[in-house]
Amino acid sequence: MVPFLDLKSIQLAQREELTAAFNRVLDSGWYILGQEVTRFEQEYADHCQAKHCVGVANGLDALVLVLRAMDIGPGDEVIVPSNTYIATWLAVSHVGATPVPVEPDERTYNIDPARIEAAITPRTKAIIPVHLYGQPADMAPILAIAKKRGLRVLEDGAQAHAARYQGQRLGAHGDAVAWSFYPGKNLGAIGDGGAVTTNDEALAQRIRVLRNYGSQVKYHNEVIGYNSRLDELQAALLRAKLPQLERGNQHRASIAQRYLAAFAGLDLVLPAVPAFAEPVWHLFVVRHRQRDVLAKRLADVGVATMIHYPVAPHLQPAYATLGLGKGSFPISEAMHAEVLSLPIGPTQSDADTEQVIAAVKVAVAALA
Ligand SMILES: *Cc1c(COP(=O)(O)O)cnc(C)c1O
Repeated sequence: MVPFLDLKSIQLAQREELTAAFNRVLDSGWYILGQEVTRFEQEYADHCQAKHCVGVANGLDALVLVLRAMDIGPGDEVIVPSNTYIATWLAVSHVGATPVPVEPDERTYNIDPARIEAAITPRTKAIIPVHLYGQPADMAPILAIAKKRGLRVLEDGAQAHAARYQGQRLGAHGDAVAWSFYPGKNLGAIGDGGAVTTNDEALAQRIRVLRNYGSQVKYHNEVIGYNSRLDELQAALLRAKLPQLERGNQHRASIAQRYLAAFAGLDLVLPAVPAFAEPVWHLFVVRHRQRDVLAKRLADVGVATMIHYPVAPHLQPAYATLGLGKGSFPISEAMHAEVLSLPIGPTQSDADTEQVIAAVKVAVAALA
């Protein structure tokens, strides 16, 4: 069997550093908002070439806290991609605002900047580009539109740790970036975790207050805050993992190059990488008209795949109240029907990569 992503082998490759980090926290006697979180915030801000980093409980909360810190709420609209993990939309809903979907570019799967202006209304307050599958969205035109129309830009970086846009690491192209350290992400904790990076000091300070009960001084509450702190243990584990992020991403990139070379000429839509992007291959997503048959044939020969994602956010029961019926976002709907993610990961063996290549070639040829 070729697993989709072998999380256990990723952790065990660093057993010693992770155990040492655990012991350091255990022995410290301090478990919430201490040295480990402070140091991780400095190290991750440096890594992202951003001025500030604030550790929070998870990626969804990172998005929510930024929107709250931007004073976005009921009556406001926020532009989101029509094809993203639902967390991007949920964050907008949780602050009481309305997500307004915009269709993606067919080749990159990221929000199409040329379609954003048509979705802007007097209520629009912000745009959330998502760097989907590990590839940066085209930030320059998005930032230009935001500047012209007076909008904030919050990037969802949950799938794109260490990716570069025009040579610069993601971290502060827009007003802020929300990060997730869910175990399956390129930088993953052993549990939940998240962060916000930004160059805006006032915004960072508001998020620090919001994440800790709206309080700067214990038992004095300035605003209606949250309990959404990155905990000391996860921060210590992430500090052990951050130095390995580039190496893991390089291994993912080498697998992606092998797939791209091996599948060129097959009847299969392959991921396209624009000149401005250095992706980190969180996922390797192909498209096929008979996606479900292809997935079944691969499973039959021991190759695990996944679908990111099977149902478009606007067609989820959770968003039935928006009244965006079937057919309202056709580009996204077609993608959701055809995308398939192949195995890729920082510890995937050459033998497994070869097995995936051989299996995909046979299965695609048989479907032609
Ligand atoms: C994983 C993910 C999130 C949410 O992160 P959690 O830490 O699971 O809350 C948000 N957006 C995208 C695009 C994601 O992939």
